[in-house]
Amino acid sequence: MREQRQFYIDGQWVDPAKANDLEVHDPATEDVCAVISLGSSADVDKAVAAAKAAFEGWAATPVAERRAVLERLGAVMKVRHDDLAEAISLEMGAPIDFAKGEQAGAGPWHLKGFLDAMDKFAWEEKFTDRETIIREPVGVVGLITPWNWPVNQIALKVIPAVAAGCTCVLKPSEIAPLSAMVWAELMDEAGFPKGVFNLVNGDGPTVGEAMSNHPDIDMMSFTGSTRAGSAVMRGSAASIKRVTLELGGKSPNIVFADADLPRAIRRGVTHMMENTGQSCNAPSRMIVEQDVYDEAVELAKEAAEAVKVGNPRDAGGHIGPLSSAAQFDKVQSLIETGMAEGARLVTGGPGRPEGFNRGWYARPTVFADVTNEMTIAREEIFGPVLTMIPFSGGEDEAVRIANDTPYGLAAYLWTGDANKGDRVGRRLRAGMVRVNGAGLSAGHPFGGYKQSGNGREGGVWGLEDFTEVKVLSQRY
Ligand code: NDP
Repeated sequence: MREQRQFYIDGQWVDPAKANDLEVHDPATEDVCAVISLGSSADVDKAVAAAKAAFEGWAATPVAERRAVLERLGAVMKVRHDDLAEAISLEMGAPIDFAKGEQAGAGPWHLKGFLDAMDKFAWEEKFTDRETIIREPVGVVGLITPWNWPVNQIALKVIPAVAAGCTCVLKPSEIAPLSAMVWAELMDEAGFPKGVFNLVNGDGPTVGEAMSNHPDIDMMSFTGSTRAGSAVMRGSAASIKRVTLELGGKSPNIVFADADLPRAIRRGVTHMMENTGQSCNAPSRMIVEQDVYDEAVELAKEAAEAVKVGNPRDAGGHIGPLSSAAQFDKVQSLIETGMAEGARLVTGGPGRPEGFNRGWYARPTVFADVTNEMTIAREEIFGPVLTMIPFSGGEDEAVRIANDTPYGLAAYLWTGDANKGDRVGRRLRAGMVRVNGAGLSAGHPFGGYKQSGNGREGGVWGLEDFTEVKVLSQRY
């Protein structure tokens, strides 16, 4: 069992102000796999003071030098890749191949996007002969990350913050703190000056709120639930902090009758089940044109039944358990709600999959005949549960259902008609729209409309969020 009770503050591992142990559980066995400390406002004060003291020097460090330290981070990340992946797999249950690939792999991928963005970013530009526009770091930033894509989220916040010249305090999720501690070791090995990056573990209501309320933190960047994002906004209001939020989603996946149906449905199902459904951009509402609906439901059943559930320590392309007992209970209860509200259970359902009597494993589940008013079509389930909604009113009806959600993070659509794809893609109220499974490149803007948050992570947009704009006008 790992014992990692210290925090990383001012370039050193230090004891918490007051002992407050927390057990971290392995989602595959439910056993305790690590002990960490929960921090307090005194630990936050110490970390913020270190970040504040480091700010002037780091902000004045030329961009090329900041870039060089980030390149060293990339080199260290390569060496420690498996350590990151093993920590992720242990703390949140991602199967080891997925943890090594997509989860830990998100670190170097985002780093590449940010290094490219640093090269093309308008750090300084002439507005008129007399006026110069200068992009300067916001200041000391507080970063709060969730447990579903732990390293991905840390990379999307820490890299642009320090690239822009900010100094930071990171609070990872208490459910997934182990990879964040490996990340702190990487920052240390890369040689960031002391105080530029600090880590305090703890829970949201204590450490998270102490950060949002802190007078010496200039900006909060948060990823997680809409509920906690709203708490961060409230806490930040008194000191008028900038707040960027990456929150939940209930992303539509429109399948028109002219699409390559087997490809659209198989990809829609596997994308939904990936990471055991715990992705904010998961295509969780499959909205299918009536003419091909029955066939689509059959294909979705087959695809979901082909998804294997297995132990995260085993190699292979299976999905693992959900990340916590709370998440397991939430998913079970929403599956029950779907059945109670009259959705048709096509496959899966409540309880653990066959062969499991321990661990927070859920069954890959498909509901058909869902209406967009049902709870399972409105609430983020964050589990391997797909909802299928038929439509018959053409593009207008598909767009109406797709946009009828408080969220607006991602949207997906499938059609054989390029004009239709472009037309419908532009009408969807979401930050990221993907047609026929088209991918997104490193450095693309990640973020959403409506209650999916504000601000954009990744590339130049991610850098922008961590900068202030100054106009300097000079006459002699
Ligand atoms: P939370 O939003 O509570 O957790 C995300 C992060 O926010 C954690 O670091 C958490 O700390 C922190 N946090 C919680 N409360 C506060 C607060 N008052 N002030 C500051 N920070 C806070 O998500 P849950 O773990 O409760 O998950 C619930 C649901 O949220 C999921 O089922 C899913 O629907 C959604 N979610 C969405 C994510 C996304 O990527 N958009 C990511 C995670 C969850 P700690 O947990 O350590 O207390």
